Amino acid sequence: MQSCVFCKIIRQEAPAHRVYEDDRVIAFLDIFPVSEGHTLVVTKKHYVDLFEADSESLQAVAAIAQKVAHALREVVRPQGLMVFQLNGAAAGQTVFHYHMHLMPRAEGEPLRLHARQPGDPQRLAELAAKLRACLRSE
Ligand code: 5GP
Ligand code: ZN
Repeated sequence: MQSCVFCKIIRQEAPAHRVYEDDRVIAFLDIFPVSEGHTLVVTKKHYVDLFEADSESLQAVAAIAQKVAHALREVVRPQGLMVFQLNGAAAGQTVFHYHMHLMPRAEGEPLRLHARQPGDPQRLAELAAKLRACLRSE
């Protein structure tokens, strides 16, 4: 998909703070993080949503989501971790390329799915480097 922002990241035509990549899946930090460590796990093939995605890609996303979750637990040490995935504008989906959110959560924090402020680029870069190192050492 020429104009899709996640496809551009996958083709390396757009920057992203990548934490993991293989043949089927890429994971990178959300550029508008709701919390420290907010990560997206994305199919490399362009599927709009859960209804389109093939089961192999979905299984790969689930497996990598677990690996990244372990790395987030080690690096960010959140009190909780929320996993969610939105399908359709009515559900709040804003990027129409299948992806799963991993969102570290703290006790009593208001529940938000999206943020408006971009993350600090240096902080995101440092965090992505730590997560990559953690995932490599597994
Ligand atoms: P959705 O609402 O579709 O479930 O989530 C899309 C997510 O992608 C949002 O949390 C949004 O902040 C994030 N996002 C949008 N554009 C970009 C981008 O160019 N780079 C990154 N890393 N994240 C993005
Ligand atoms: Zn795409």
